[in-house]
Amino acid sequence: MNKICVFCGSSRGILEAYSQQAEMLAEVLVENGIELVYGGANIGLMKSIADRVLALGGRVTGVMPGYLAQKEILHEGMTETILVEDMQERKKIMEELSDGFITMPGGFGTMDELFEMLSWNQLGLIHKPVGIFNIEHYFDALVAWLDHAVDMKFIRPEHRANILVNTDPEALVKDMSEYTELVAEKWVDSLKKKGY
Ligand code: AMP
Repeated sequence: MNKICVFCGSSRGILEAYSQQAEMLAEVLVENGIELVYGGANIGLMKSIADRVLALGGRVTGVMPGYLAQKEILHEGMTETILVEDMQERKKIMEELSDGFITMPGGFGTMDELFEMLSWNQLGLIHKPVGIFNIEHYFDALVAWLDHAVDMKFIRPEHRANILVNTDPEALVKDMSEYTELVAEKWVDSLKKKGY
């Protein structure tokens, strides 16, 4: 695992723990010689993790659409800055640069990025670990929904099992580096086998 892309809020959230734990994840990344790839902003949890990685001497690559660079405030201290056309290209480049993805607390943008990577894994377009850093149990409701969706047969159990969820950044990064993808039998094939 050389590079991990972190998706997280352009806000800091209400709890100090969100930023503190973002910094803990930064420390785990640097200790393990893993570079940070992220959206390149100088605000919110995005800033918290990037600042800490840089302060510890780690490498940070930020990927941001040119038109957002003003609105989101581009981080000036990054090791590498990549300006792209739009949000879709940003996600594609962040995916191509990275060996895995970690989602920290955030809003619509963060969720969009998480679900895009999960969809690409499900479609077999990529085969990379997706982790959820469940700081202060922010994602408990999402995890409950994932399990509900499996029970209701909208998500394959293998696809659910591939999502690594942890409240501890060290354990999460370890799980990601030891990740082996579970491959689901194609839905249509399994229906055919059952005679539908
Ligand atoms: P948020 O979680 O909404 O605070 O956003 C976190 C990051 O996701 C920010 O860098 C946003 O620019 C980015 N983002 C916001 N909306 C989208 C979107 N529709 N697609 C992809 N990324 C987005």
